[in-house]
Amino acid sequence: MNMEKEYNMAKYDRNNITTEETHLIAPCGIYCGACDMKLGRSRGIAKEMYRILNGFNFTDVGPFFMGIERERISDFLNILEQWSKRENCAGCLAGGGNPACPIKTCVNIQGFTTCAECECVPCKRGENNENWFQDASAFLELITKRYRGWNIKNLERIREIGYRQFIDDMQEQVKAGFTTSDVIADDMIFTEVFNKMLKQGEKDEREKTNK
Ligand code: SF4
Ligand code: SF4
Repeated sequence: MNMEKEYNMAKYDRNNITTEETHLIAPCGIYCGACDMKLGRSRGIAKEMYRILNGFNFTDVGPFFMGIERERISDFLNILEQWSKRENCAGCLAGGGNPACPIKTCVNIQGFTTCAECECVPCKRGENNENWFQDASAFLELITKRYRGWNIKNLERIREIGYRQFIDDMQEQVKAGFTTSDVIADDMIFTEVFNKMLKQGEKDEREKTNK
């Protein structure tokens, strides 16, 4: 191990963070501790809204109050009920998130906690690489688009101040009300990629049948 690497290992101070705290960070730089899927704030709100609106029999009176179709009110109440029953996510490094995530796999193989410890960060997708869901660099690009670069800034911050200080800073922000919903892009990033993959699959199938 060279001097620089030794220095870096000290900086990544994994021994200064508990297992529980490790579950607040994700390999790609997302801070799971600020994600509502883990925090469950919206689930509590959905539960209370469902209790009040359903108890008010809003499906009966809503169409007259608000001019909304009965079916749409019923769908809305159904969404609230389903949402309030969802389990909280444990966090990416506690078995939550995408179990087949190629970033998580890459980081695991290299013995890192996050990509911040990798010399290649952020690794880049090749020009013709459309293998979004299997390739770590392509998936990191997708995540970075969805989070408008916030995850990469987090990785840079970890490189600068280490895990201990990063977690402490993030927890302060979460206490002040910050959630990942404040940084996620409006663009339909995953929908576009799924549609592209679907079209490519149909094209491949047609070509196979025509052979
Ligand atoms: S599953 Fe992958 S993309 Fe999702 S938070 Fe974990 S490392 Fe990031
Ligand atoms: S190669 Fe890419 S995905 Fe893998 S650890 Fe490095 S930056 Fe992360």
